[in-house]
Amino acid sequence: MRKRLSQVSRIVIKLGTSVITNLSKRPDLPHMTHLIRQMSDLRALGKEVIIVSSGAVGAGRGVLGFEKKPKTLAGLQACAAVGQSRLMAIYEKLFSIYDINIAQVLLTHDDLEDHNRNLNARSTLISLLEHRIVPIINENDTVSVEELKFGDNDRLSALVAALLPSDLLILLTTVDGLMKNFGTPEQEIISTVNEIDDALRLQASGTSNDAAVGGMKTKILAGEIATRSGIPMIIANGRKKDVLVSLMEGEEVGTLFEPDDSMLPGRKRWIAFFHHTKGSLVVDEGAKTALIKKGKSLLFPGVKAVHGAFDKGDVVSINDTSNREFARGIIEVSSRELISNEIPESEVIHRNNMVIL
Ligand code: GLU
Repeated sequence: MRKRLSQVSRIVIKLGTSVITNLSKRPDLPHMTHLIRQMSDLRALGKEVIIVSSGAVGAGRGVLGFEKKPKTLAGLQACAAVGQSRLMAIYEKLFSIYDINIAQVLLTHDDLEDHNRNLNARSTLISLLEHRIVPIINENDTVSVEELKFGDNDRLSALVAALLPSDLLILLTTVDGLMKNFGTPEQEIISTVNEIDDALRLQASGTSNDAAVGGMKTKILAGEIATRSGIPMIIANGRKKDVLVSLMEGEEVGTLFEPDDSMLPGRKRWIAFFHHTKGSLVVDEGAKTALIKKGKSLLFPGVKAVHGAFDKGDVVSINDTSNREFARGIIEVSSRELISNEIPESEVIHRNNMVIL
């Protein structure tokens, strides 16, 4: 897989806050220039580059006089508003050294949750790429409130990769990759992850760095979205010299998450990853087996419990009897109809509108 990386053409690169800010928490201009020079090299090889950049809240913090990351939503949003424009001014200047035009794209979760808006966001990004412009994406932190948030830019970058779709997702952070035995003398980098399983999820713990939002946990979740979408993902140290160029030359840098063999079709990616589900159904073992093993639709008799309030057309989680989500789908009936047993037909989620996770 590593060797094939030199052939990919569309790359989403996520830059974490600590990758682009220095120790005094200001944008690290020399290092940003170094990264942008590498991106310009990739572009010269004919690759399309899409950036998901964190750092808006960080860049605004100093200006507003916050010693630490503010705790209130309004404080964070004010920092983001000030910081985002500063950040873009820096990107504009640094990319212009290499004669590359950039565009700011700020997204909220519901821009991608609604199917038409999702398709529209995709067309806009594709149009920017066709014009050889580098889109620089961030969450629209100034207006997104908790329930509407992507939450972190690891997830946002995986969603952008799944939306386009891209051929590769690179998360640049300040650690060398995913570690085995982290914090012990036997600490060792995991070069390749073939499958994201419970053991791996357990190994990934949150970060204590107060500038960063996600730790490894959010990166593993991003890995689930990317690999299920058929997109390889790499976690690497964005502070290492020439990291992007080395990666693209197939060197053993960082941790590579191998993609699933097949890419979920666009509509299924949208059902699986772009929703804050409105509720969940708990189904019995028989229904679970029929869904997973036989690719059947979900029928009313298999539903044991209904949680949340949802309408026909909403995306809901399908959970097993230990309440673990194993699938998602677009529901044909409302929660009200399910609870009152007044359902118009026995099929509650059609198999074409369902994704096994
Ligand atoms: N959107 C946030 C910012 O620009 C960062 C979120 C994250 O790093 O996950 O500061």
